Amino acid sequence: MWKDLDISVVRCDSEKRKDKPDQKNLGFGKFFTDHMFLMKWDRENGWHNAEICPYQNFSMDPAAMVYHYGQAIFEGLKAYKGENDQIYMFRPEDNLERMNSSALRMCMPRIPVDKVLKGIKALVYLDRDWIPSGDGATLYLRPTMVAVEPALGVRPSSQYYFFVIMSPVGAYYAEGFNPTKIWVTDKYVRAVKGGVGHVKTAGNYAASIMAAEEAHRAGYTQVLWLDACERKYIEEVGTSNIFFKIGEDLITPPLNGSILGGITRDSVIQLARSWGVNVIEKQITIDEVLAAIEDGSLKEAFGSGTAAVIAPIGELCYQEKKHVVADGKTGELSQRLFDELQAIQNGRQDDPFKWIVRVG
Ligand SMILES: *Cc1c(COP(=O)(O)O)cnc(C)c1O
Repeated sequence: MWKDLDISVVRCDSEKRKDKPDQKNLGFGKFFTDHMFLMKWDRENGWHNAEICPYQNFSMDPAAMVYHYGQAIFEGLKAYKGENDQIYMFRPEDNLERMNSSALRMCMPRIPVDKVLKGIKALVYLDRDWIPSGDGATLYLRPTMVAVEPALGVRPSSQYYFFVIMSPVGAYYAEGFNPTKIWVTDKYVRAVKGGVGHVKTAGNYAASIMAAEEAHRAGYTQVLWLDACERKYIEEVGTSNIFFKIGEDLITPPLNGSILGGITRDSVIQLARSWGVNVIEKQITIDEVLAAIEDGSLKEAFGSGTAAVIAPIGELCYQEKKHVVADGKTGELSQRLFDELQAIQNGRQDDPFKWIVRVG
């Protein structure tokens, strides 16, 4: 069935095209382009009706299963306008493969990666005028799959929509790196082993909002999550993976089933190793991190994820005590990783790992 999946293109009428937003006030995820990718799945036909169509509302039955039981998975990736206006994407197959492992865990259908990538490239090319060109500004893509069968009762839906919407986003660091203040919670947990923490599924984010709200009220940007059982092992920070440079080692928690395997995390590991940095995937407790801050061996700490790429950490607050990290400044390795990854993503730099996909 997948082999015959043709993608039709219905262009938005020129008078219906939206005005482009002010490039200086893009923010994140506020504006959406003129077109989207959409395809449908049901048990008889598999994936069908794949189309690039005008960005549009869905009409959905209130019994659609996603509203009740939350079978919803998504991805986040970016398209970049680099030198000579060439358009690039960063490791898009990895996002689609990860979506397929999410689908497996959530009892949802797998997507045909090659076809969908072809559709996504065509979509990005069609809306290429929406890709911001300022330094660090990008087009953020959100592939999503939801259960749409109108029925109550907890079981896998027999019908799904897969769609991709796109949003121009501003540079994450418009005024340069500003190390973030992090709230370590031992009150809430994000995920447990055996659960769905390693899957990009909507419920994980709904479950995280209250902790983030408490952190914001206390003046912190993100939550640092500890493991659910002992509440001492470091897991992730907000919706990013986390790294610590302690002595000469770069340490990150292993993918143990409750941590999301970030593509940026993997890129950081590969890049740092190629520079001869000793990268170690191992469990590390909050007490070890605080002791390393105390004795001065903790040199840097940062989060990694598609949105910010690298997010240096300047402060940790744990059990009402504040701990300044690396003098609250951006570390050398954090800066180098950020610069190098951004240069690769923009096509300004050699791409030894073959991470870049050209569009158009
Ligand atoms: C998406 C995500 C990440 C980062 O993944 P990237 O592929 O690097 O963007 C990390 N943790 C969580 C919980 C996430 O949802």
